Amino acid sequence: MEWLDGARCVVCLTFDLDADISWRNILRRHRIERDNPVVLSQGEYGPKAGVPRILRLLKTHNLKAGFFIPGEVAERYPETVMEISGDGHEVGHHGYSHRNPASCSLLEEKEELEKGTEVLEEITGKKPMGYRAPAADMSANTLNLLSKHGLIYDSSMMGDDVPYAIATENKKIIELPIRWILDDWVYFGFNYFPPLEYQSGISSHRKVLEIWSDEFEAVYDEGLYFMLAMHPQIIGIPSRTKMLEKLIQLMKSREDVWFATPLEICQFWKKRMG
Ligand SMILES: [Zn+2]
Repeated sequence: MEWLDGARCVVCLTFDLDADISWRNILRRHRIERDNPVVLSQGEYGPKAGVPRILRLLKTHNLKAGFFIPGEVAERYPETVMEISGDGHEVGHHGYSHRNPASCSLLEEKEELEKGTEVLEEITGKKPMGYRAPAADMSANTLNLLSKHGLIYDSSMMGDDVPYAIATENKKIIELPIRWILDDWVYFGFNYFPPLEYQSGISSHRKVLEIWSDEFEAVYDEGLYFMLAMHPQIIGIPSRTKMLEKLIQLMKSREDVWFATPLEICQFWKKRMG
C-alpha cells in the first residue's frame, strides 16, 4: 500500500490525556463516593509530569502527534492544552467528563459532545475534528452524533488494519482503528484500590518494546498503518518515555515511514477513497 509521497507505511502517535477524571469514574463505578486522593494523584501525574516529558521527546524527534483530551481536563489544565496545541500537535475530542457514552441518555451524550468541543475550541482556537470514545465504548447514537456534530473521524474501533469508512445517518465517518496490543494501559495499568481493576502487574519495558517493535516490523512489511494509543500518566514516566524513544528510533531508521497526525491520515484517506 502506498501512503503520502510514496511512503511504505504510516505511523501515528496518540495520547489520551484522561488525568484524574477516569480514576474518579472508576471509583464511582465501584460505588466509592469518596475521592481517594492517592488514586486521583496517579492521573494528575499525566498533565503535570507526563505531558512535558512527552512534548520534549516529540520536539527532539520533530514529530507531531494527536492528543485526545476530555473537556473537563482541558478546563483544569488550560496551559497544558495550549502548550500541546502551540507545539503543533492535534487536539482531539475525548468527551467532556470522560463518561462512558453508553451510560448517557441521548441528551447527555449531546451535551458531552457540545461542551467538549466548546472548551477545546476556546483554548486552542480550533474545533476538534476527531474523536476517541472515553472508556472504549459507544452508545447506538454515538457515531450519528459525531457526524451531526461535524467530527470527521473516530479512533476507537478495532475493525481493520487500515482506516475505513463507517456509514451514519449523516455523512460517513472515517475510522482510524486502534488495537489493544498497541495500547500502553494494557501492559502498565496498575492500581491498588479499588482492587477490582488493573491489578495484573506491571510489564517489563523490554517485553512491551519487543511487542511494539515486532508489530511495527510486520506493519511495515505489509505497508499498513501503525496507530499507538497511549496515556501520559502511563507512558510519561521516565523509563517508559525512554522506551518509546527507542521505538521511535527504530521506526525512523526506515526512510519510507510517514509520521502523521490522525487528522492528516484521515484527510489522506478521504482523498484516496474519493
Ligand atoms: Zn480516556
